[in-house]
Amino acid sequence: MTPDTHFKEGLAAGEIRLQRCAACDTHIFFPRVLCPACHGTDLTWVTASGAGEVYTFTTVRQRPERGGDYNVAMVELAEGVRMMTRVDGDPQAVKVGMPVTAYVGDIDGTPAVLCRKSEA
Ligand SMILES: [Zn+2]
Repeated sequence: MTPDTHFKEGLAAGEIRLQRCAACDTHIFFPRVLCPACHGTDLTWVTASGAGEVYTFTTVRQRPERGGDYNVAMVELAEGVRMMTRVDGDPQAVKVGMPVTAYVGDIDGTPAVLCRKSEA
């Protein structure tokens, strides 16, 4: 099984799986076979806590009949990795640094990482 397949199986099971390097303790995303920090190969899988914050984002304009505006965000998880995702709700309400909770949702029938604003 490739690292990417393992990640996708995690999503199908409702888990956001990250890799962690046993040699230098770096968390890794996207899934890969070598640690990008130290080139170690002893990578183990962990489930992300889901805690994170918006690192940067953009709003994609779309006609209302096609679903309206939505945002594409780069979210930094507590583990230190960044993921492209969407933040639920009003695209205008998204702010850099906003605390979010990552969860496994659904985009067009495919399991995907999504985020919602964290309760303060
Ligand atoms: Zn490493």
